[in-house]
Amino acid sequence: MNIIYPWQQTQWSQIESLLAQNRLPHALLLSGSKNIGKRTFAMVLAQRLLCNHPGSTACGACQGCHLMQSANHPDFHLLEPMEKAKVIKIEQVRERVAALSQTSQQGGAQVVLLCPAEDMNVAAANALLKTLEEPQGQVFFLLVSHQPSSLPATIRSRCQSIAFPVPDPAITTTWLATQSISQTSSSELLLKLADNVPLTAMLFVEEERLKTHQKILEHFVDIRLNALSPLQAATALSDVLAEHVFTTLWSVLMDLVRLAAHQSELRICNIQYLDKFKGVSQHIQQRALFAFLDELMAFKGKIDSKIALNQQLLLEDLFIKWRTI
Ligand SMILES: [Zn+2]
Repeated sequence: MNIIYPWQQTQWSQIESLLAQNRLPHALLLSGSKNIGKRTFAMVLAQRLLCNHPGSTACGACQGCHLMQSANHPDFHLLEPMEKAKVIKIEQVRERVAALSQTSQQGGAQVVLLCPAEDMNVAAANALLKTLEEPQGQVFFLLVSHQPSSLPATIRSRCQSIAFPVPDPAITTTWLATQSISQTSSSELLLKLADNVPLTAMLFVEEERLKTHQKILEHFVDIRLNALSPLQAATALSDVLAEHVFTTLWSVLMDLVRLAAHQSELRICNIQYLDKFKGVSQHIQQRALFAFLDELMAFKGKIDSKIALNQQLLLEDLFIKWRTI
């Protein structure tokens, strides 16, 4: 069952208060970093709205709750990019909007969850906009967004926004310690690697993910130490998720920037690679590190775009810059 994470209590209190006053808006925009638990939060709220006997949260026992838990509720509509399409299409929005115009199947509220909302194409956003302009009875739209600035301003202005900032590490460290963390990796290290984003840290808990992190890191450092060519590294990493490559390279760059700024070694994320990092930083200027950060951001922009890309070529290009910058 979905739960409200400990770092979302403030946002949930806000929802409870709106519900108690019967003032929950028809459209909510839940925004914040990826892997912070926004979608889970939206699912909890959807179940609360569709529960037949709600308290501050859903009862968990009624027919509405059972239908939600078995992903079968006829008045809950999840809109997300269809496999491979990477966008939410107008047909998906139209189909749902048509369903909403009929009364709810269970006689209560209807909930549409869009995740991530910025993946709507322009036509889909326009179709949604029309519906948002004419809110009907007990219909609620929950828009989950990692990049709310990518949404049309017209959509944003019709939603009440609830922000999910990166939580206080003290809260997430305690939470991570209650999860099944492997003996070898402390929750502090995992959180540092994940930039304090708790569910990203959980991804690192899976040993394979940590191994991938180390593989990317070692290949990247070896390029700069002339132990590996950009082509060799790009070939070796061509089947690794581009998102993972970005996360790892970002953590390495941040460590190198910390070293260049003579910050305490305690702040180095990948501390077991300190000696290698020192070897790299001897031959690279701070200015060059920042120039490469720009390249890395451009790489992120490309992998976030909806265009199909040749990952190996993209990586080779990035690594050539890394070797020569
Ligand atoms: Zn219930």
